[in-house]
Amino acid sequence: MGTREIRRKPPAAVRREVLADPCAYCDDDATHVDHIVPLAQGGTDDRENLAPACRWCNEEKLDFTPEQWRAWREERGMPWPPVPRFARMWEAIAATAAQFTEEDFRAAGY
Ligand SMILES: [Zn+2]
Repeated sequence: MGTREIRRKPPAAVRREVLADPCAYCDDDATHVDHIVPLAQGGTDDRENLAPACRWCNEEKLDFTPEQWRAWREERGMPWPPVPRFARMWEAIAATAAQFTEEDFRAAGY
């Protein structure tokens, strides 16, 4: 209980307004309100510090600022900006499917 709990959750009207836009990082559907500068690094709950984020970006960004997150991704050879989750899934599926011929599928009983 206390003001800290309240401060961590923006008012419903603010949430709705923030989430009206797609993920600020990958353009996927936004479901989370991201603190651009994380609270852990001194960020505030002010509207200008809030950005829409999809679940995947929000979980990966965690307590990074966008600059730190970008550096973290680049160190790992990951693309910037992040590719939306579903686009990545479809790419993986297409790449896998491309390895098989029609005969492979027939042989497998499809
Ligand atoms: Zn995203």
